[in-house]
Amino acid sequence: MSDQPLQLARFNGFPDALLDVAAPELWRHLPAPTLFDLPGRQCGMLFLSVLLHGNEDTGWRAIQAVLKRWRGRVLSRPIKLFVGNIAAAKAGVRTLPGQHDYNRAWPGTEHPATAEAAMMQAVVDIAASDSLFASIDIHNNTGNNPHYACVTSCDDDHLQLARLFGRTVVYFTEPLGVQSAALSRFCPSITVECGRPGAEAGVAHAVELIESALALQHFPDHEVAAADIDLMRTFAIVKVPADASFSYDGSAADFRFRSDLDHLNFAELDAGTSFGAHAGNFRLEIVASEGGEGDYFTYAGGEVRLARGAIPAMLTLDPHAVRLDCLGYLMQRIGRDGRRLDAAGG
Ligand SMILES: [Zn+2]
Repeated sequence: MSDQPLQLARFNGFPDALLDVAAPELWRHLPAPTLFDLPGRQCGMLFLSVLLHGNEDTGWRAIQAVLKRWRGRVLSRPIKLFVGNIAAAKAGVRTLPGQHDYNRAWPGTEHPATAEAAMMQAVVDIAASDSLFASIDIHNNTGNNPHYACVTSCDDDHLQLARLFGRTVVYFTEPLGVQSAALSRFCPSITVECGRPGAEAGVAHAVELIESALALQHFPDHEVAAADIDLMRTFAIVKVPADASFSYDGSAADFRFRSDLDHLNFAELDAGTSFGAHAGNFRLEIVASEGGEGDYFTYAGGEVRLARGAIPAMLTLDPHAVRLDCLGYLMQRIGRDGRRLDAAGG
């Protein structure tokens, strides 16, 4: 992880020249991660972050579309826009070798001594000096997933903000050092997952969310009704050990995952569901959340099977994503109180 200080560039306003620049070309205009201050009519700042992962450009494309619509007019509320990993965007990757992941480096991170962590702390300090209305961090993922919002707090305002995006909401506490957890100390805060990069539907959905947050005067003072939200909690992160090999096409490896693994995402799977074949002594690594201890997989008969019912998310067929981050997450349905709902939904 880099220990050279990282510069943060600041801009007042948004140069028209950037309205049509693709994410991989941003480095020609912005030599460093950049924070834009955009004025607005009513008080209450909307904080947006995009390109924390360099190959996830839906957020950048969405903010370009929003600012084109508002061109020549003052925004209904001010925006602080953080454009993150421009160097990784140039290379078309999530994170460059040697960098601290830009969405694991925010206050609360396990590695606070990195240059990236110092920069994110500076961004948070600047953001928190304003009156913040809401924070939205926009991402893509690599597997087959619906669009969904993630929260690190089940307080009503956070869920109201998530509902602006859709009814599928995931509550999580790990990994640490994510933008949404850092900003949740100051305002309702969500991360949105907009499907794969390059899909127009993801951009349109993110545009709609930003416009809704700009238009909203204040959060409703009633609770989100249980019937209006599918609330889940991640209780385990699933990783492939660094020394283990894996494949998706049946070719020889320690883990031969099924080729349609990512089609299990957001399905309610029973105990015994197979993730693929297995040889040797490696076991999948589990990072369990509080209350998520216990066995997750069985390895009998050369098959990797779920040891308990679960709803997976972000299972991916992208080997780089597996090595840089994880194979995927396991979730369970929860109620508004954060407690597990049984299979009948009671
Ligand atoms: Zn991401």
